[in-house]
Amino acid sequence: MKKFLKLYFCIILLLLMSLLAGCSKKKDIVTDSAYMLGTHLNISIWTDDEKEGKQVIKECFRRISEIERKMSVNIKASDVNKINNNAGNFVKVSEDTTKVLNKGIKYTEISSGAFDPTIGRLVKLWGIGTQEEKVPKKIEIDEALKFVNYELLKKKDNNEFKLDKKGMQIDLGGIAKGYAADEVYSILKNKGIEHGVINLGGNIYTLGTKVDGQIWKIGIQDPLEPTGTPMGVVEFSDKAIVTSGNYERFFIKNDKRYHHIIDPKTGYPVQNGIISSTIITDRSMDADALSTSVYILGVEKGLMLIEKMKNTECIIITKDYRVHLSSGMKNKFKIENDRFQIENHNEDNKH
Ligand code: AMP
Ligand code: MG
Repeated sequence: MKKFLKLYFCIILLLLMSLLAGCSKKKDIVTDSAYMLGTHLNISIWTDDEKEGKQVIKECFRRISEIERKMSVNIKASDVNKINNNAGNFVKVSEDTTKVLNKGIKYTEISSGAFDPTIGRLVKLWGIGTQEEKVPKKIEIDEALKFVNYELLKKKDNNEFKLDKKGMQIDLGGIAKGYAADEVYSILKNKGIEHGVINLGGNIYTLGTKVDGQIWKIGIQDPLEPTGTPMGVVEFSDKAIVTSGNYERFFIKNDKRYHHIIDPKTGYPVQNGIISSTIITDRSMDADALSTSVYILGVEKGLMLIEKMKNTECIIITKDYRVHLSSGMKNKFKIENDRFQIENHNEDNKH
């Protein structure tokens, strides 16, 4: 019996020693940046092995590059261009592109067509953020609108998709970054990383809590000030936060701002008073599709949509400096610039 007790205490002691040894290793930040998906990317993780941490981030960037090769309209051999160049026929695409297209179709339905992955012709025509950006003639917009119709995007089992009309074009710019952030999150999780921040051009995903156990505080960009100026702060851990804003890609002509979020009904950049819409939810691809959808739907319909969705919150900013919050945001968001004011909305819609 005495022997057993001795052995028992030895095991406990060993366990305690190994735990203490683990604790004594300090976790430091490892961070790296890249330019892909048409934007600046930054990944920061906290780890006790710097070399391994750097490798993990490199692997994340490799994965993002793979996603870009499949989904970019600017890469000739991408899945998206295969579908676009073979309108009229079903085209088999990768599992990645299938997941994103399926989600895109889901959000088209949820947003009653505000989010429309067949927006490609209009995106190309406006060319916002490219050398070719211009205000198109009304006749050109009317022509492009004939090629924007989500009902003509068909899918079959086995990862096959078809555009029913020649000349139609898919564009996944409103959702692909979200998918990339989700994939990065999975890589980090699988590698045992417990604390991190993924920032893909403003698509932010926080992994776990801060290294000291505290909740992350994420700044919400002031849409009227230079990048990096927050107008408020949200507190969340282990969530995706995605913003769509009229300041991200735009040009100004005759004092009018033309930005990159296009209303598929009119063919023009959305003008409904919103200047940014932020979504906070569990997965980045959902947040990404929803931030674009809510921007297009407008304050009332956008809030109604978000109130119906589980674990999903939003912060909408309008050009009159009003901030419209979903009901679950009320205690989680703080304004830091008092030229903005929170607008109270009826909460009866919350399910
Ligand atoms: P985001 O910044 O996530 O709101 O996405 C904007 C991008 O989505 C644009 O640059 C286009 O590539 C694409 N886009 C623009 N309008 C729409 C729309 N109505 N539905 C889906 N994607 C869109
Ligand atoms: Mg989006």
